Amino acid sequence: MPRTVPGRTDRVVVVGAGLAGLATALRLRGAGREVTVVERAPGPGGRAGRVERHGYALDTGPSVFTAPEIVADTLGAVGDKLEDRLTLVPLETTYRAQYADGSHLDVHADPDAFAAEVAALCGPAEATALRRYLADLAELYRLQLSTFIDRNLDSPLDLVGPELVALARRGGFGRLSRHVQRYFADDRLRRLFSFQALYAGVSPFRAIAAYAVIAQLDIGAGVWHPMGGIAAVPDALAASAADAGVAFRYGATVAGLETSGSRVTAVQLADGDRLPADAVVVTTDQPWRLVPWLRGPRRPVYSPSCVALHVGVRTELPGQAHHTISFGESWQGVFDELTRDGRPMSDPSLLVSMPSRTDRGLAPEGGQVLSIVAPTPNLDRRSGGNPDLDWTTLGPRYRDEVLATLEDRGWTGLTGAIEVEEMATPLDWAAQGMAAGTPFALAHTFGQTGPFRPSTLPRRGPENVVLAGSSVQPGVGVPMVLISGRLAAERITG
Ligand SMILES: Cc1cc2nc3c(=O)[nH]c(=O)nc-3n(C[C@H](O)[C@H](O)[C@H](O)COP(=O)(O)OP(=O)(O)OC[C@H]3O[C@@H](n4cnc5c(N)ncnc54)[C@H](O)[C@@H]3O)c2cc1C
Repeated sequence: MPRTVPGRTDRVVVVGAGLAGLATALRLRGAGREVTVVERAPGPGGRAGRVERHGYALDTGPSVFTAPEIVADTLGAVGDKLEDRLTLVPLETTYRAQYADGSHLDVHADPDAFAAEVAALCGPAEATALRRYLADLAELYRLQLSTFIDRNLDSPLDLVGPELVALARRGGFGRLSRHVQRYFADDRLRRLFSFQALYAGVSPFRAIAAYAVIAQLDIGAGVWHPMGGIAAVPDALAASAADAGVAFRYGATVAGLETSGSRVTAVQLADGDRLPADAVVVTTDQPWRLVPWLRGPRRPVYSPSCVALHVGVRTELPGQAHHTISFGESWQGVFDELTRDGRPMSDPSLLVSMPSRTDRGLAPEGGQVLSIVAPTPNLDRRSGGNPDLDWTTLGPRYRDEVLATLEDRGWTGLTGAIEVEEMATPLDWAAQGMAAGTPFALAHTFGQTGPFRPSTLPRRGPENVVLAGSSVQPGVGVPMVLISGRLAAERITG
């Protein structure tokens, strides 16, 4: 049985109203606790933020939304139904993969349509391989969900069981790049099924094959668009929590935690206020900076960072897909630059999302909104990043380069049509308190995954402080931090 917080836990203060904090609050409220969420920003969402300007609504965080069942389950904790709070549109085309040779491949949510597309572009043998690979991914995901992801892990011994053996037998601990190569001969498919390793902060040439499962979440199980943008998800969770009786203190920064003996007794706010608590859940990046006696990992490896450019444009950009992965010619070189050499990609692979293609309300008549995510090195040399990159001067140049690359790759007229824009570089993430200037936290190296990733109930900290969010188990990304909220709540409720 996973360890739990001893003693009274009636009044809980949750620090942070990002997705992890909101999920924690809903779970705890559903279990009858008195819950207060403290958030320094004026509203909920955290990294899943939104900027509205001149009729454009720009999501400034995640753009690829997967695993809606986890949101449904989270709302279910207080008896709410997803369909009463959110409208989700399944995307028929999950991604358009655009390649440097001029070809493109539309990944369809429907496996038959996807296989037909692969057969047409890469030949029937690759389509057969695709079907086998998709079945394999679904099974890998099932094995990993129950061992690594969906539960609190206090020790590596917790992993031992038939699923771990099955995972090893399926080659889950070999290299991801080799795993994918065994199935596919066509380089375009190899890229399509391994770029997701970057979502986990590791190069597919270094990642273990078990991370192939990230492709199960998007390509295997499908991608949805929440109407109103991804920020509608935290809005819905916060509204549901408030209706269920969770108290919110926005615009309130937590300055420290007050202790007595082995417990925290109150949360101190920067404005001098003090909130007494029987238990506290900290969901900030690097939570160990806020929690007394707690230390972060001894030799942390952080994920690469990104430049995120969000634009509202007065042009239709006809023919573009909702999500495009635009691959450059270079492949292994991209990962070397990002995770070893500490250099921005010289021939970039980019994720471009244009949600207004599905959701016209996000942009004014005749316009579109786009989010462009360009992976970059982080600011930590020991993680292969580069603290010397001066993003104040490099940022604007890099923005121009990224836009010029997209113009060359078919987004003709994009640059001249920009009416509003919002950009974040590693410096901006660092200024928000994110370790190594990355919004993607500790990389999912083997040594920072499952029981080796910081626990939701650290042994060193105060006995009634629990952690959630992307710095702890199970990891980074919308589905994972929502799960972390549940795991954190379970440390309190049992
Ligand atoms: C550009 C970008 C693209 C992404 N793309 C995807 C994607 O496509 N798909 C996907 O699944 N994931 C994606 N992610 C990752 C995903 O957004 C994050 O993993 C997730 O939102 C993190 O949630 P969280 O609750 O752990 O942290 P946060 O959202 O950071 O929540 C922590 C909260 O704590 C607050 N806080 C911090 N310090 C204090 C304090 N002292 N007092 C009070 N409050 C405080 C912060 O303001 C914040 O609201 C992306 C992230 C970014 C930035």
